[in-house]
Amino acid sequence: MEIIVAKSAGFCWGVKRAVKMAVESLKASKSGRIFCLGELIHNRLEIERLKSMGMVFVGDFSEIPEGESVVIRSHGVAPFIIKALQKRNLNIIDATCPFVKDVHEKAIKLERENYPVLILGNPKHPEVEGIAGHIQNPLIASTLSEIEKLPSFPKLGVVCQTTLNINFFKRAISALLLKVKDIKIYNTICSATHIRQREAQKLAKEVDVMLIIGGKNSSNTTKLYQISKAVNDNSFHIESEEDIEKNWFKGAKKVGITAGASTPQWVIERVVKYLLDFTKGGKLSGRGIRKTVRREFQSA
Ligand code: SF4
Repeated sequence: MEIIVAKSAGFCWGVKRAVKMAVESLKASKSGRIFCLGELIHNRLEIERLKSMGMVFVGDFSEIPEGESVVIRSHGVAPFIIKALQKRNLNIIDATCPFVKDVHEKAIKLERENYPVLILGNPKHPEVEGIAGHIQNPLIASTLSEIEKLPSFPKLGVVCQTTLNINFFKRAISALLLKVKDIKIYNTICSATHIRQREAQKLAKEVDVMLIIGGKNSSNTTKLYQISKAVNDNSFHIESEEDIEKNWFKGAKKVGITAGASTPQWVIERVVKYLLDFTKGGKLSGRGIRKTVRREFQSA
């Protein structure tokens, strides 16, 4: 069985940066701990690792004792939260991804130009909540039926969640073009997302079984799974090797692997190792595994 790992599998630049900032701050922390508002990334295994290093995850800033350090995760937050953290005299480590900050700036710019702003994305996702918090009267839509229910606007500005499915974005924009004359659209889907989605779709078409690794609560991993499942029914969303069922691979010659932007490399490596162990004689290809690890696996 050939195992092909997508080149784009795993941590994106923004998540890598956020985790690095958090780990460096932990090492420098005198109290041996730092706080994070919400989960730093949507990956249970990486969260457990960070907890064991001293990171404390809280749901609300009121739970953080004054004077402590707090990490703002890559999703970003609304300005009122930053103000509240400053009021509590907390040391803020802002790991908001610069691409998310760019969406904030674009939404603010549209509103200054008197465009009502529509955010395409999941209203409950922290990134969308953060974008919405930067403008006065945000509109949010996550489905085509929500877009159809919107009234007609003389003018409208559009931004989107950085991990939005590109196919949904295209359909949403087509529907909006029928409703709005003066429309200003910023495609704020991050290239890391776009590349992962394109590669997942391509790989899923070429293999017999496709594994998508990442947290069940990870929005971008779920979208990779949906894209893969649409072209290959044998697509499975797993969090780790423990979720794998051996009967998925009956008669399979090629297995594709990709992983969400919040899935650490070490989790991908564990899945690959598990597959190589149980297929005995499996061959690893693709460029999604670091060269040194690939050599180790191949010679094991
Ligand atoms: S997916 Fe893109 S926007 Fe989101 S954290 Fe990664 S690099 Fe930043």
